[in-house]
Amino acid sequence: TDRILIAGSGQAGFQTAASLRQDGFESEILIIGEEPGLPYQRPPLSKGYIKDPNPDRLLFRNADFFEKNRIGLEDGRTVTGIDRADRTVTLSNGRTIAYGHLVLATGTRNRRLPLPGIDLDNVVGLRTLADAENLRERLAGASRLVVVGGGFIGLEVAATARAAGLHVTVLEATARLMSRVVSPPVSEYFYAVHTASGVDVRLNSLARAILDDGAGKAGGVETAEGERIPADLVLISAGVIPNAEIAEAAGLYVHDGVRVDDLLATEDPAISAIGDCASFPFGQEGLQIRLESVQNAIDQAKCLSRRLVGHPERYDKLPWFWSDQGPHKLQIAGLTAGADHHEIRGGVDDGKLSVQCFRLGELIGVETVNVPGDHMAARRLLSQPTPLTLEAVQASGFDLAALMK
Ligand code: FAD
Repeated sequence: TDRILIAGSGQAGFQTAASLRQDGFESEILIIGEEPGLPYQRPPLSKGYIKDPNPDRLLFRNADFFEKNRIGLEDGRTVTGIDRADRTVTLSNGRTIAYGHLVLATGTRNRRLPLPGIDLDNVVGLRTLADAENLRERLAGASRLVVVGGGFIGLEVAATARAAGLHVTVLEATARLMSRVVSPPVSEYFYAVHTASGVDVRLNSLARAILDDGAGKAGGVETAEGERIPADLVLISAGVIPNAEIAEAAGLYVHDGVRVDDLLATEDPAISAIGDCASFPFGQEGLQIRLESVQNAIDQAKCLSRRLVGHPERYDKLPWFWSDQGPHKLQIAGLTAGADHHEIRGGVDDGKLSVQCFRLGELIGVETVNVPGDHMAARRLLSQPTPLTLEAVQASGFDLAALMK
């Protein structure tokens, strides 16, 4: 069979199908998706959707698009097993389907914290549209929200809930917000703005237990120091786990996601993995990374599609990301985690911030808050083949826009 079978109907799975048709792939495309309904985008779920819910606006495309482009979708089903020798998969309904190529685009799921009380009724997570509906309904009847985990999603929800008048506490286990992915100046900026808007942000603060209110609901969260913070709603946003079990069971190499090469292929030439579930090579230093972003899902899907229609290209796209927290727009270009030098412009008093991140004398990334022009300039500059040296950026007065001229 020439059939391309896509496991996962999220951002990466949908984009693969759409790109394959654009690139002229003629044979059958079938998406198997665990979630019910048509593929949709997740970013609004922690942002505008809470205030202004409209599930139809989240859809990438309507049903017509799938019909016209002959993209098959079996929703509400999972791929439960892969038989690599036979090139077939088994579905949750027992059916077996053959593939010519299998695309793993299974994304991630929320990490479950092993805390006492975690199963209480009003302890929630946010990943899917169903989660967002649940959260939205519960927020409407809540007055005290505790968010466990000070990453992007937790902070976006915290800002929205606070603006709606709730009492909000954020517990972050590390010494700063979003510590895994942004530089210290950006963490400090967001600590300041969330605190100023009335969110109670606790750093170095670990949740130890969810407290039962006596009626089977969470009444609060107890920290490792023994403090009890009252709550009538608890959001757990403490990271994710890649959905890679079916790959591992099929004997593929899995380590923080499904391992792929720079063509996004696994060691089995008939199986590729893309998006949040895939661990791929990055940069010159032999790094293997996994990214959770719309950019990564879309660009990897496009790259894979090109290969599947006979035009293999190495995947080497610049990572970029955004997060809207209340009125503040954070944008990141490049991977900034390994930086050894930061150039900082602006701050909370200016209502905007630009952080240029250097490593070994080269610009590796730029983080901005409310400076979209710098972000766009950074994306173009960082996509160029020759890296920008610290001296060159310094000579421009650290003015990225000027460097583009
Ligand atoms: P997903 O979109 O997660 O799709 C994977 C799908 O596969 C899921 O539907 C899952 O149920 C399904 N699946 C899993 N296992 C199986 C199986 N065995 N068989 C069949 N189906 C299966 N990114 C940004 O860049 N900017 C943002 O502002 C931003 N905000 C976000 C806000 C929220 C609340 C969330 C949850 C994510 C956000 N992201 C954001 C991240 C972005 O949405 C993800 O990086 C992107 O969706 C990844 O696409 P994916 O297809 O790899 O995974």
